[in-house]
Amino acid sequence: MSCPICHKPTQTTFRPFCSQRCADVDLGRWFKGAYRTPSFRQDNDPADLAEAEGKAILSSHDTSHQQP
Ligand SMILES: [Zn+2]
Repeated sequence: MSCPICHKPTQTTFRPFCSQRCADVDLGRWFKGAYRTPSFRQDNDPADLAEAEGKAILSSHDTSHQQP
């Protein structure tokens, strides 16, 4: 099984993700999707998507639970 965010090998600690970062990315994506459905970036490269989502979380949610 591979990380659904960046497709690296899954780490048991962060299953089904490879790291806390990817878990945060997925959480942020799900959370935003709850009230705004993204429909314009589905074809992006997963790495770019993760990068964009990380920045979006930082800019819209302060630093409440974001690891540096
Ligand atoms: Zn990952």
